[in-house]
Amino acid sequence: MASRARGVLIAGNWKMNHSLRETQAFFSALPELPKAVGLTVAVFPPFLSLQRALDLAPVQGILVGAQNVHWERSGAFTGEVSGPMLEEIGVRWALVGHSERRQYFGESDLTAHNRAASLLEQGFHVILCIGETRAEREIGRTQEVLVNQIRGAFGDSGDAPTEATARMARHLGGRLVIAYEPVWAIGTGLTATPEQAEEAHLMVRAELAARFTPPVAQKTQILYGGSVTPQNVDQLLACPNIDGALVGGASLKPENFAALVSAGARALTKS
Ligand code: PEP
Repeated sequence: MASRARGVLIAGNWKMNHSLRETQAFFSALPELPKAVGLTVAVFPPFLSLQRALDLAPVQGILVGAQNVHWERSGAFTGEVSGPMLEEIGVRWALVGHSERRQYFGESDLTAHNRAASLLEQGFHVILCIGETRAEREIGRTQEVLVNQIRGAFGDSGDAPTEATARMARHLGGRLVIAYEPVWAIGTGLTATPEQAEEAHLMVRAELAARFTPPVAQKTQILYGGSVTPQNVDQLLACPNIDGALVGGASLKPENFAALVSAGARALTKS
């Protein structure tokens, strides 16, 4: 499969930034974005800004997703938000397993699995985030960490894929996207070099090929995330196994976000 047949996804993770008013200002100042066949653009605002983003983003064809969703559909889970609540306002995308959720809020491979499996069953598009820490990279454990996180997130820690794993894997190449986000590169200004990122994406694809099938691995979209900016995005997107970017800090300013989306469109036309 030619790499660009997987399309390019540019996703902005706003984290705990952009209030209602700032969300309004973001979309008012957003330049006209380029359109290209195969280009998908999404933003992930905080919960309170979702409705405002849903009102304003579709004019430019931008999709809106949530940064976190509970796996249960309702119940006694103080402080949580469920899939049906989000669906009711029109949100159909979600991030799962982001390293900040893992680092600060106790997210684990198991909770990432619970969220991803439930959201996929509910018809959501899921961006599943994985990535190694600096210490893990330095001692040569990057591949092992990525493999373990993939297996954990698919609910598959044994030798043979379970039924839950198979149900999730059916969405690879469709509503389930993987984001490789080295923890040491997130919000630090340190970006993986295109060679480091491509190498890690190949590891992910190899694991998907071994675990599922080579065609499933080939059709899976794998994004890179970690201090992507308008300055480094072209080089990253030029790598054959990088199918887009999940961007935090640089997605917050309208002109930067537009530049990232333009790079996504360029990557598609170059192939
Ligand atoms: C992220 O939040 O997923 C991310 C990659 O952040 P940043 O671009 O700021 O490193």
